[in-house]
Amino acid sequence: MREAASTGDETTLTVVIPVFNEEDCLPALLQRVLAIQSRMPNCRLELLFVNDGSVDRTGVLLEEAAAAHCHVKVVQFSRNFGHQAAVTAGIDHADGDFVCIIDADLQDPPEVIPDMLALALEGHDLVYGKRRSRSGETLFKKATAAIFYRMLRRICRVDIPADAGDFRLMSRSVVLAVRQMRETHRFIRGMVAWVGFKSAPYVYDRQERHAGTTKYPLFKMVRFATDAILSFSNLPLRISTYLGLGMTTLTLFGMVLVACLRLFTPWTVPGISAVLFVVLLIGGVQFLILGIMGEYISRIFEQDKDRPLYLIATTSNLKSR
Ligand code: UDP
Ligand code: MG
Repeated sequence: MREAASTGDETTLTVVIPVFNEEDCLPALLQRVLAIQSRMPNCRLELLFVNDGSVDRTGVLLEEAAAAHCHVKVVQFSRNFGHQAAVTAGIDHADGDFVCIIDADLQDPPEVIPDMLALALEGHDLVYGKRRSRSGETLFKKATAAIFYRMLRRICRVDIPADAGDFRLMSRSVVLAVRQMRETHRFIRGMVAWVGFKSAPYVYDRQERHAGTTKYPLFKMVRFATDAILSFSNLPLRISTYLGLGMTTLTLFGMVLVACLRLFTPWTVPGISAVLFVVLLIGGVQFLILGIMGEYISRIFEQDKDRPLYLIATTSNLKSR
């Protein structure tokens, strides 16, 4: 595709936008994303909206937009499957030489997409948005995000860039690679990092949400973070092994110590409460270990069911496949 661009042929850029109850953001979003076409004369812009089971007027507004512009394509899910499933559907149905993923709430400014494309055309298969600042977000969200990304980088074998979300521009090679990954619990920025290829950051300032409220309440954020850690690291399972080994060694050492005290010294070990404490502690650790194993087993179970990652109810302006 880079060859196509350099020989003057038209490049196609598909902007994938997952939407869930974003009726207040849609008009401004459409206007701002469509406006970037004028800054990319050699590139044909396509918009691919994935409506993730919205219950407000998002679906109707998208149908209207598709009727008005033939390069606005819409995939409507049969229900809410979640942000990562919506991004997956976008990646699956995007036909462009390059594909850019952007949220619908305008926190990531669409105006920087032409610069990201220019960087990609210089020879980068992946250009990921790296947040220099995040205005309009709570201190809690900023702090948890900062800790989460740094922790993830430490425990995962995959080099997942810090402070980068799903706002990214990918070449066809990356898109085709990610399409092959059909795991049930999806952490797309990790999956994109896993496929490799030449990448470059594009530093930008994250804006405030244009309208409406976040569609990622705390419980969804925790689920998302758990999926990320469990899908990209087996450290939690190994922690159980280390804990188990450590505790067994300590207990054996303690037993030998107590026996020696009793046999060779006048001291005895008093304190049934201490015994109780140890029993409780061991019980707690065992439950913890069982819990961690359960998390992995439930993921194997989910994956084994091999259900589709999302179901499409209707599409607009999409070639039948
Ligand atoms: N979103 C989605 N399905 C969901 C939740 C969110 O498609 O179940 C979309 C949402 O419309 C937005 C993007 O995912 O375009 C990111 O959500 P949001 O901005 O609410 O998350 P935050 O930026 O607060 O983390
Ligand atoms: Mg947002």
